Amino acid sequence: MNHIYYSHKNILLFMNGSLKIGTFSGIPILIHWTFLIIIPLFTWIIGSQILLTTDLIASLYRVPIDTSLITAGYMPYILGAVVALGLFAGVLLHELAHSLHAKSKGLKINSITLLIFGGISSMEETSPDPKVELPMALVGPLSSLGVGIACIAIMYLLSSSLGNAPVAGVFTFVFGYLGMLNIFLFGFNLLPAFPMDGGRVLRAFLARSMPLNQATHIAANVGKAFAVIFGILGIILLNPILILIAFFIYIGASQESAAIQYSFLLRDVTVGDIMARDVLTVGPTMPVREVTDLMYTTKHLGFPVEERGSVVGMVTLADIHKIPALDREAMQVRDIMTRGAIVLPPGAPVIDALRIMSGNNIGRIPVMDGDRLVGIVTRTDIMKVIELREM
Ligand SMILES: [Zn+2]
Repeated sequence: MNHIYYSHKNILLFMNGSLKIGTFSGIPILIHWTFLIIIPLFTWIIGSQILLTTDLIASLYRVPIDTSLITAGYMPYILGAVVALGLFAGVLLHELAHSLHAKSKGLKINSITLLIFGGISSMEETSPDPKVELPMALVGPLSSLGVGIACIAIMYLLSSSLGNAPVAGVFTFVFGYLGMLNIFLFGFNLLPAFPMDGGRVLRAFLARSMPLNQATHIAANVGKAFAVIFGILGIILLNPILILIAFFIYIGASQESAAIQYSFLLRDVTVGDIMARDVLTVGPTMPVREVTDLMYTTKHLGFPVEERGSVVGMVTLADIHKIPALDREAMQVRDIMTRGAIVLPPGAPVIDALRIMSGNNIGRIPVMDGDRLVGIVTRTDIMKVIELREM
């Protein structure tokens, strides 16, 4: 029911809407808003099927489980919450294993985000090296296996030392369940379906005998095939979680494949090669209404704000949208502009510009040669270059 992956790129769709819950070894740990749905959902699913699962755990591990405390009052749902939170602790450990390994290899880790079906470790790396990627992909599932075995060991220890007391039943249930889930995470993540760890193992293997983008393409297609199979199974079995997993794998595979394809197609293009040189700028005191008129006539949806020869910010359609229409009448550019805008030198690789745009959700970046504004690069222009290069 859970799956985990990490990404070398910023995943375009899922990174927005996250909340920081802490930092470990300098790595910010974020939770995605979908997490707030999945914890109660898992709590409910586990709580409502508690007797069924207890039977399964008892027969799987061949241990007796006293159910008197487990089924008392609200206990099924309390235990459901404990198992759900324990599962996500396991997911976090899995992601930390990837991230700490990557960090030890000198890669920069931006963050770990826990989301609806696992986590993403966001790292900075321009072209994944199969020799580095293979152990980095394996270390996550192996840590899940380790956590699973540890849970099962604790379960046996507690069940033998506590005997057949009702409280022993509770511990056997929780640790037995977490043991099962972590071993499931181990196996599921090793499916050769990109963007899961197994897909990365497959790609590292393929990349020995072909270019990386081709290897990624094949691994992503295998991932999509798995997604289709899970989707069909989910529909046949009327299982919404399976359908969500299918959707998640499909999107992830497509995005990773596109990200690698883009960095391949744009590998030798600089911002200076494709920027528009005739940049229209606006002054900080220009009325907002005039900016809107300028957008209508030029079809540009953002302008650098220039004051005494230097760029002091950007004003975009998004900035204007934030202000209620009535208030816009009395406002000037300086009231609504985004200050300290991101700029790039003409020599910067275009793929960096695309990454910054995706990561910050912006559509254009001014190009500065020293203090001089020399052009502007937009997402639309980059997409056109990609289309041309795909021919
Ligand atoms: Zn993983």
